[in-house]
Amino acid sequence: VNAEDLRRRLDAIVGRESPPQPARDAVNLPMIRHWCDAVGDRNPVYTDPDFAARSRHGGLVAPPAMLQAWIMPGLIPAGRARLSGVVREVLELLDEAGFTSVVATNCRQQYRRYLRPGERVQVTTTIERVSEEKRTALGPGHFVDQRMIYRSEDGDEVASMQFRMLKFRPPGRPARAGGPGAARRPRPGRTQDSAFFWEGVDQGRLLIQRCRGCGRLQHPPGPMCGACHGLEWEAAEMSGLGRVYSFVVAHHPPIPPFEYPNAIALVELAEGPRLVSNLVGVDPAVVEIGMPVRVAFTRVDDELVLPLFRPTEEAGGARDG
Ligand SMILES: [Zn+2]
Repeated sequence: VNAEDLRRRLDAIVGRESPPQPARDAVNLPMIRHWCDAVGDRNPVYTDPDFAARSRHGGLVAPPAMLQAWIMPGLIPAGRARLSGVVREVLELLDEAGFTSVVATNCRQQYRRYLRPGERVQVTTTIERVSEEKRTALGPGHFVDQRMIYRSEDGDEVASMQFRMLKFRPPGRPARAGGPGAARRPRPGRTQDSAFFWEGVDQGRLLIQRCRGCGRLQHPPGPMCGACHGLEWEAAEMSGLGRVYSFVVAHHPPIPPFEYPNAIALVELAEGPRLVSNLVGVDPAVVEIGMPVRVAFTRVDDELVLPLFRPTEEAGGARDG
């Protein structure tokens, strides 16, 4: 996509209004409760029907700032399919042109009235403006201004939002993943404290800091023992065996060069310390807490070896049996 062509295609979208997008759920008390818990809003007019009945509202109302929660489209990729047409078109055009990252920069909401449980809002979105390519601290990009109008079922405007985001090309990344100069895994931070760990990894050894005073194994490494405050330590080689203590499978947002779904585990080594790492050689759908794993020193590019973990035979046997 050349710049002129991109501009022409963006201009064709600017000013168009998307068809009304209905909320997935009507305004409801359970979602309000969760939202109030999450943000720490204890105003009983949102959650206590008796209190709300005696208030000037005469009944429960939704927190105005919760506006956007009612029309959240849900997880990508299903979520993107539910995004309003014009927003999706702009995002896809900019993705295609290499502006693959996004950050929200401004948001201004105006509320005309409170929403009440049972109401189902809908939103229409207009792309008001897509800026020329700008240099920013994050990288070159385009600012996208959206205007969203929230309406009740009978068409009354209840609120509006001006929303600006920056779609940018992160520095050092190509327009397309996989090409020459494709994104590489981030380099680990090698500090004075952690240098021995990475030198060990380069030699295929899993080294953990051991306090010379009390014998405690400590990870991540630091200058002082967290137990006895000793400053003398040595590097102890681990067996490389451990178990999945906890894990998360990341689906979104996909960031090159990682593969998704991406299984990220907190591995508890047989000797005790815990490390955050990636699991390899396993379908993320079958990862379980307690799964036995073994370190796999994995060359991820010409400069970097990482201590990743893969299930041991025992895990495979357990799965089959
Ligand atoms: Zn110690």
